[in-house]
Amino acid sequence: MTADTALMPIAGRTDPVTVPRAPAPRADGKVDLVGLSKDQIRSALEAAGLDPRQAKLRSKQLWHWIYNRGVGDFTAMTDIAKAQAPWLAEHFVISRPAVVEAQVSTDGTRKWLLQTHDGHDYEMVFIPDADRGTLCVSSQVGCTLNCRFCHTGTMQLVRNLEPSEIVGQVMLARDALGEWPSQPEGRMLTNIVMMGMGEPLYNFDNVRDALKIVMDGDGLGLSKRRITLSTSGVVPMMARAGAEIGVNLAVSLHAVNKVVRDEIVPLNRKYGIEQLLEACAAYPGANNARRITFEYVMLKDKNDSDADARELVRLIRHYDLPAKVNLIPFNPWPGATYECSTPERIRSFSNIVFEGGISAPVRTPRGRDIDAACGQLRTAAERKRKVAAA
Ligand code: SAH
Ligand code: SF4
Repeated sequence: MTADTALMPIAGRTDPVTVPRAPAPRADGKVDLVGLSKDQIRSALEAAGLDPRQAKLRSKQLWHWIYNRGVGDFTAMTDIAKAQAPWLAEHFVISRPAVVEAQVSTDGTRKWLLQTHDGHDYEMVFIPDADRGTLCVSSQVGCTLNCRFCHTGTMQLVRNLEPSEIVGQVMLARDALGEWPSQPEGRMLTNIVMMGMGEPLYNFDNVRDALKIVMDGDGLGLSKRRITLSTSGVVPMMARAGAEIGVNLAVSLHAVNKVVRDEIVPLNRKYGIEQLLEACAAYPGANNARRITFEYVMLKDKNDSDADARELVRLIRHYDLPAKVNLIPFNPWPGATYECSTPERIRSFSNIVFEGGISAPVRTPRGRDIDAACGQLRTAAERKRKVAAA
């Protein structure tokens, strides 16, 4: 199936604006209940013709079936009158993203190539560990930013993902892991990171609405303490993220001076390091129990010197930030112009930050063999098109 949505106009390399582009309506004309708030479900039922009292009751029942039980078939909803199921099915769907391909890495990491109903590909990754399982969720198809070390950054932004497509990733993972009904204990999927394709703060409303559903205690029930949103540094949206979403914050810092950060994270030309760190200091909810994570990709001879590590410690102290640093060995992709720092360099960098009193673990790359590691996501369909064109 080919995409029927044209590429979004890109406003500029360093000052992209989110051009709200509505996805094409579903071809079947039905309303997807996934991604709607409880009130929106009620309004949708009323708009389709239910009287307000029934709509209120049904919206509660539907919410429970959809998010607690993971049921997508109206006829399986035992407390909804049998006669009403066909009417519901005629007007509504409970969707999942379509799976184009599912892969498993030798280390157990799983990657899914997904497709939106209007034909755009995106990816999600599940990373199992001994004591937790983390789902890496995408917020956009492509990205407007062009971080130089990131494969997704070489794609143009196709469109923002809708709340249904963001929540849908979590629900699909629950399906695949057999984790219905939702329960507080013994889950494999324990954590969510908004670290897949795209910049979540350039799709703020949809990411917020989706995460509110993911956090709802009557539904998917994941605590905000187990959700982390990663931004490349969209300063004007950070306070709102704290106030309106309230999840943990990760910031893709990657460099400690203007010259290098301007080069590798071009958004820095718009929002500089000082502004970014001030926004971190003001982030609501950040404290010693809930630290801000600074992500730092280790690029050989670019940002990995001992002096860089010392400057990182100085900056974090200067802004008095409750912080931890996550050192990410650079994950290569075809055509990348950088190399990963040597293990000795990474160790030395990490030690200096540790000695500065800041935790600085090195993130173990996961799923590299299936291109599922940080920064390797760029949809297979895109790759196939490239190969065909070459
Ligand atoms: N757009 C958001 C979230 C997605 S990227 C952001 O930039 O924060 C998730 C993390 O992977 C970011 O810290 C990003 O900088 C990092 N990353 C991107 N490309 C990478 C690569 N090739 N190797 C290692 N990490 C990479
Ligand atoms: Fe976009 Fe994040 Fe990749 Fe930068 S690192 S291009 S913001 S996905």
